[in-house]
Amino acid sequence: MNCEKCGNLVIRTLSDNCVSRIKLYKKVAYYCDFCDEIFIIAKYKDVLDKHKYDGELTWLREQNPRLKADKPQEKITFIENAGGCICTKSILLGKTPVKWCFRNKSVADADSGWRFIGKDDTEAYITVNSNNVVVDFNTVAGIEPAVLAIYNMPVGTDLYIDKDLENKIRFFKTGTNEEIKIKYD
Ligand SMILES: [Zn+2]
Repeated sequence: MNCEKCGNLVIRTLSDNCVSRIKLYKKVAYYCDFCDEIFIIAKYKDVLDKHKYDGELTWLREQNPRLKADKPQEKITFIENAGGCICTKSILLGKTPVKWCFRNKSVADADSGWRFIGKDDTEAYITVNSNNVVVDFNTVAGIEPAVLAIYNMPVGTDLYIDKDLENKIRFFKTGTNEEIKIKYD
């Protein structure tokens, strides 16, 4: 089944025997990994309290792989005072890997100028303001540690990430496709 709100595939459903006279377990609700919400299935909306399964929500959230990347308590500080950057929501939610990395002039003191766009982010997706989120540079590094290697590159840097056959991350210049040799220490 698919989520009625976002249309994505639903992985976890909730069954209950309270809607059946003969106490059969029926699928009454589901949890959407993308919306991070529990939805009561339409035909049971009138008979079930919409908060009936709120207690299950904490556990379901812990099982949601899409939320793990964005958990603040799991954030590691790779670079002290790294500053902020702008990253698409789909990267933060684990829907797509980091692909395009470019550094603009910073627009505020705490802005590193770095911008990150995901591999599957469409032009239409990134032009929607709310799909671009200001986060600490370290948050993106927690998702794709390779970006630590490019942090100090100057304003104007415009790269994309590609993986080779051994899944090793490589950076290329956007436009010329020239590979940037990164020294990892
Ligand atoms: Zn959904």
